Amino acid sequence: MSTTRRTRTHSLPTLAVHAGEPAHDVDAPVVTPLQQSVSFVHEVGTADGLRYPRYGNTPNADVVQKKLAALERAESGVVLSSGMGATACALMALLRPGDHLLASRDIYGGTARLLTEEFTSLGINVTLVDPFEARGWRKRMRKETRAVFLESPVNPTCRVIDLRPLSYLTQESGLALVVDSTFASPINFRPLEHGADVVIHSTTKFLNGHHDVMGGVVLGTASYVEEVRQKMILWGQAPDPFACWLLERGLKTLDVRIRRQNENAMRIAQWCTERREVRAVHYPGLPGHPDHEVAAEQMDGFGGMMALELAGGGRAADRFVRKLRLIRHAPSLGGVDSLVSEPRFTSHTHLSTEERASRGLPDGFLRLSVGIEDAADLIADIEHALH
Ligand SMILES: *Cc1c(COP(=O)(O)O)cnc(C)c1O
Repeated sequence: MSTTRRTRTHSLPTLAVHAGEPAHDVDAPVVTPLQQSVSFVHEVGTADGLRYPRYGNTPNADVVQKKLAALERAESGVVLSSGMGATACALMALLRPGDHLLASRDIYGGTARLLTEEFTSLGINVTLVDPFEARGWRKRMRKETRAVFLESPVNPTCRVIDLRPLSYLTQESGLALVVDSTFASPINFRPLEHGADVVIHSTTKFLNGHHDVMGGVVLGTASYVEEVRQKMILWGQAPDPFACWLLERGLKTLDVRIRRQNENAMRIAQWCTERREVRAVHYPGLPGHPDHEVAAEQMDGFGGMMALELAGGGRAADRFVRKLRLIRHAPSLGGVDSLVSEPRFTSHTHLSTEERASRGLPDGFLRLSVGIEDAADLIADIEHALH
């Protein structure tokens, strides 16, 4: 990978297709070849250039890492075997026993368990903060606080967190601001441009976009990413070359997929606001959404994730999901197929009905991951299921 194509000045759709790929010589394949090997012939007499999949430096990992760094406008990036692996290694590279982490209360369930069960048992103190409480972060800061972790947009409520005031706080206090941007993708939101220090994605979702490969990525400065890579190597969180190859292929279409998903979600959200069967529509693109102004300012698109609250509660939700013919009832999100899920049976099963309601997830709450199908067909499917 001696020379890469000059793509620095290109815009995101072009970077998604070309960034990170080697210069194309005559006879070179247009598609990055899959090099599904765990071993690579090594130069005699030097420790340099040793390649091994667990080190995150196979040819397929190299290409996709450069592409992702270009898309987030980060200095460097490392791909891992899952979003959870990415979060774990990203935070382990920042925190030591005795350190304190401020984390948003509104985060992916797996991440919440990682922080409150695993990290606390490693001697790292974690405080969960309501990200919408005024001055909530500042009030809970301690002298041992090292980092702030949050997710935006928030799963599954689709709330959007304003990064600007938070980045003033982290910069003035010398804390690392770490953002899980899985719900947005770099087409819609690039946290590094808004004062974040580290960006994490579960590439399983929008970045790969085809519901067929797991992965994660951590992006930031080259020296920090190198520390994450060392954690990945020792905790065994690296991806296989084939996973990197599939992710690279998925990324080529990122811009067109995300634009269609943004458009489809907006059309569905607007249509649903007119329906009496739907008590509430949660989509940051709607003017009535509590974070609409923040989203309009810090994001380039409102995203493909939305949520509906059906007027008939849990029973209506059950009936609705059973009647859908196109939109499938399945967990995960961000891919080309539209999917629906109910947090009370997935991410939030551990809470009581009352606790869920107090978090904005009453029974009848449905999360919709909008795909790239024709919006009219999706709306027809929803209309049929609401009847
Ligand atoms: C899915 C998800 C994760 C975890 O990613 P995996 O690839 O499943 O390990 C983390 N954060 C968010 C916001 C997610 O949606």
